[in-house]
Amino acid sequence: MREADRSGGQLCAGGSAAAARSSGSWATDSAARASMVANRSRDTGPEMAIRRRLHAAGLRYRVDFPPLAAERRRRADIVFTRLRIAIFIDGCFWHGCPAHFSAPRANADYWGPKIARNIERDGETNAALIRAGWRVMRFWEHQPATEVAAEIIAAVRLASSATSSAD
Ligand SMILES: [Zn+2]
Repeated sequence: MREADRSGGQLCAGGSAAAARSSGSWATDSAARASMVANRSRDTGPEMAIRRRLHAAGLRYRVDFPPLAAERRRRADIVFTRLRIAIFIDGCFWHGCPAHFSAPRANADYWGPKIARNIERDGETNAALIRAGWRVMRFWEHQPATEVAAEIIAAVRLASSATSSAD
């Protein structure tokens, strides 16, 4: 997991297969960029692979859901509302993955600031959620789905047992 302070750089480097496949010249040609735009945030391959595993493990959750009712534009990818766990599967391009993001050569002066704003906004979203008592889990899309799903499942089961024993 990437903690909210984004200090977990080593996690990023651990994306072995996915990292090796995509660390080349992607994002530098217009076809790749168009594909990333089309795939933007929802129902991406990596996220679907994770959701399939969560569902298979019996977990039920909201998808693309705003954890904070007052801030409906801040949507998390996977949300466990009762347990207050908000999960983000961040695209390596859109969220500035340190292992994979490099501004496209064309229009670098556009993409650099745009991605910087996204990163800033992610930090604000983390802070707002944590203030409201939520647990925030962020992952990069390049992380293996099995590992991400296992971490989410463990967190949800731990939180479930904590809340049920506390009542
Ligand atoms: Zn990445």
